[in-house]
Amino acid sequence: MRGDGKRCDGWRGGPQGREACRRLLVTLAFLSVVVLSVAVSVRHLSAQDYRAQALRILQTVPLIDGHNDIPDAIRARGGLDSVDFAVLQPKLMTDIPRLRTGLVGGQFWAAYVPVTTIDSGPHPAVYALEQIDLIKRLCAKSPRDLAMAYSAADVERNFKAGKVSCLIGIEGGHAIENSLGALRMFAALGVRYITLTHWRSLSWATASTDTARRGLSGFGRDVVREMNRLGVLVDLSHVNDVTMSDALHATRAPLIFSHSSARALAHHSRDVPDSILRLVPANGGLVMVNFNPAFVSEAVRAYGDSVDARVRALRATGADSAAMADSVHAWGARGPKATLAQVADHIEHIRDVAGVDHVGIGSDFDGITEVPVGLEDVSRFPDLIAELLRRGWSEQDVRKVAGLNALRVMRAAERVAAEMRKGKS
Ligand SMILES: [Zn+2]
Repeated sequence: MRGDGKRCDGWRGGPQGREACRRLLVTLAFLSVVVLSVAVSVRHLSAQDYRAQALRILQTVPLIDGHNDIPDAIRARGGLDSVDFAVLQPKLMTDIPRLRTGLVGGQFWAAYVPVTTIDSGPHPAVYALEQIDLIKRLCAKSPRDLAMAYSAADVERNFKAGKVSCLIGIEGGHAIENSLGALRMFAALGVRYITLTHWRSLSWATASTDTARRGLSGFGRDVVREMNRLGVLVDLSHVNDVTMSDALHATRAPLIFSHSSARALAHHSRDVPDSILRLVPANGGLVMVNFNPAFVSEAVRAYGDSVDARVRALRATGADSAAMADSVHAWGARGPKATLAQVADHIEHIRDVAGVDHVGIGSDFDGITEVPVGLEDVSRFPDLIAELLRRGWSEQDVRKVAGLNALRVMRAAERVAAEMRKGKS
């Protein structure tokens, strides 16, 4: 207070006036501390309030995530007997306790089929069947927490019963091995979306990694139509822009991007360009935002490219694999990070370009090796919802992103399938 006393030295009211001045300053200082601490606690309470509001919302609408790769992560660890999904699995991003904490209502589990199966190992169709088998057994193992779902009505019924819906999506159209019969059998097994390609192009659909200006072939369009007739959603994550456009023109049902973000914010070929986002409303489809840091943050994407170049240079020096792994790990640790706020930016960008009816969540958990800060695993979904609320989103719009949009798209696909089977269109 000595410093404050000095300001009263020029006070004209004599010693008494100076004393009054000092007391006034002390009171003002005290009040400012009170006001500041109240402001800080209000801000703190607000963050808590948004989270509480998010939790309350997610008790009224099932949060549906478009893509989670836990089936292949479990397979890679030796199968279902090697991983107890009912208890915390700190090395994974997904388990039942954290699905519960994250209030997940429905999850599309990826029946991922590596493109290497095109050349060797089990046939792609067999690999897909094994993944579907794993998903169904995983779900059956925890009947109190998980239940299979094959329709929007199933998801809603399971949600009311307090269970997480297990939905199946095949990742990689090579699984059908160019056979519409195989496609029909996958649909009969309960597959509800197929990602047309993975990282490698097929004869009938072109992958995002491909520089060729090729899209869907005639057979590719037949696949899309048959998927429409079967009620299997066409998933355009992983295809190139021409295939996106071709599929949008060929399909009768809404289509989805099960795990892709916005290319305007991170210039990755796996993300969706604005030119395509603008076509999505007329189709009625859905873009489910991916959490992969390289798809979310332009800085991370660019840094990843520079690491790739350094890896190639190091390999050229003849470095052994341990030295390579150490270097890649060190470079990764030094690199930029993506954040929860940036994921929210993607959701807002897609809302701004395509509309709030066409954006959802497709985390890609357990298929990604890095995660955004604040979105480390499936328990963190409510934090993302809370961030949207903090930004001023209405509860109704938040509900759409969380799950209502996915349910609407599933219902529309079911309706188109029923009409096509009746021969109405
Ligand atoms: Zn993927």
